[in-house]
Amino acid sequence: MIIPNGRTLSSLSFWIIPRHTSRYCNCRVRFPSNLRPFSASVPRRIMELTGFSQEQLDVREAVAKICSNFPDEYWAEHDESGIYPHELHAALAKDGWIGIALPEDLGGAGLGISEATMMLQTISQSGAGIAGAQSVHANVYATQPVARFATEEQRKRMLPRLISGEFKACFGVTEPSTGLETLKLRTHATRDGDSYRISGQKIWISSAQVASKMILLARTTPLEDVKKPSEGLSLFFIDFDKNAPGLELRKIKKMGGRAVDANEVFFDNYRVPVDTRIGKEGQGFRIVLHGMNSERCLLAGEALGLGYVALEKAAKYAQERIVFGRSIGQNQGIQHPLAAAYMNLEAAKLATYHAARVYDASGKDPNITPHAVGVACNSAKYLAAEAAFTACEGSVLAHGGMGYAQEYHVERYLRECFVPRIAPVSREMIMNYVGEKVLGLPRSY
Ligand SMILES: Cc1cc2nc3c(=O)[nH]c(=O)nc-3n(C[C@H](O)[C@H](O)[C@H](O)COP(=O)(O)OP(=O)(O)OC[C@H]3O[C@@H](n4cnc5c(N)ncnc54)[C@H](O)[C@@H]3O)c2cc1C
Repeated sequence: MIIPNGRTLSSLSFWIIPRHTSRYCNCRVRFPSNLRPFSASVPRRIMELTGFSQEQLDVREAVAKICSNFPDEYWAEHDESGIYPHELHAALAKDGWIGIALPEDLGGAGLGISEATMMLQTISQSGAGIAGAQSVHANVYATQPVARFATEEQRKRMLPRLISGEFKACFGVTEPSTGLETLKLRTHATRDGDSYRISGQKIWISSAQVASKMILLARTTPLEDVKKPSEGLSLFFIDFDKNAPGLELRKIKKMGGRAVDANEVFFDNYRVPVDTRIGKEGQGFRIVLHGMNSERCLLAGEALGLGYVALEKAAKYAQERIVFGRSIGQNQGIQHPLAAAYMNLEAAKLATYHAARVYDASGKDPNITPHAVGVACNSAKYLAAEAAFTACEGSVLAHGGMGYAQEYHVERYLRECFVPRIAPVSREMIMNYVGEKVLGLPRSY
């Protein structure tokens, strides 16, 4: 592999988490002794930290410390091998981070989505990218409706062992034949004595290979028999036992984030006890919505993290790479797109943390309507995903040919940054939503 300007590969790909110097940070977390102090030769942390709460900054510092044990090479190797990052999941679980936004009586930290978003952003921004964030993502947000709507007995049975990292959960909503038209989903759970029998197919289910639990949305009353399509769906927290009859998986080969598997899941009369149902039968869609807005915030954070780390790498490279006798970063053609991408990320960051704050406050403040929460969370996800894409694309281009080389990691970020644009809801559906619900335009679909 050709290394520009005669540097060694190891010096180019060295990873470091610098101790940040925000005036808001009391730096309770000690700088790990095995890491070099910040210097001009390593990427600068560029995100502006002014305005974050002390809790958010503490989360950022502590999570960054854990992630510093997982260098770029770890993620490049796992992307190549498709092996799940169990070590990161275990390290986060060990220090209690899986339960960051779950209640303290269950072993969680009792913090909000504002802090959880910061956690996911920090994981992504460490270079772990969407893959690293996705290794814990569903466990953080899909458990929100369970914590809120399950019975006391269910909460105690279902959540503490997930928080401790003993279990991993996946989230099963998307179906191949209905796509974004979630209310038409066809997987059905049929009551049979003390059990339900589940039949149908899900697709794109992340982490299903390693998960032993699934939070599942299935139809319990046929679409023809309900007044509104949002009725008749139920939410389940089920054992996801691949050795039991009636459950099969097929892994999907995908473009990016390969360390975390994506799967087709086939249910054929897969039996689960009745007490795996969360809330009342038929109320599942209303319940799951509670988790969906929080997921948009988390994914927005993940996108931001990817965008910032891509820009950090681009700024470093543009500083060091000499062509025509000067650093390429001295050319405005390189500098300006990176500066514009930075401002886009900062704007999306404000939208993201505004949405997370509105989401967290909505539980306590009756003046905050579900509409306000929905608009803020959807807009944030859209803006962060687009800003991340611009930053990742700009970073690859600023690296020239090296942007295309795996060793520089930015091509991995570009592949991964499509995920927040597509999932859990696409850009087009967010625009449909804003067009209709905010601008009052006719429903276009
Ligand atoms: C990496 C990855 C991980 C995922 N993980 C999970 C998971 O763990 N669990 C899970 O349940 N799902 C998961 N998903 C699924 C994801 O949520 C869906 O892919 C997403 O919701 C889009 O659905 P679809 O792929 O069926 O697109 P489709 O519904 O087939 O839409 C295809 C395209 O058409 C556009 N479109 C459709 N209708 C309209 C319209 N009326 N107006 C304008 N445009 C329209 C869409 O915007 C989109 O661009 C994951 C997806 C990916 C890629």
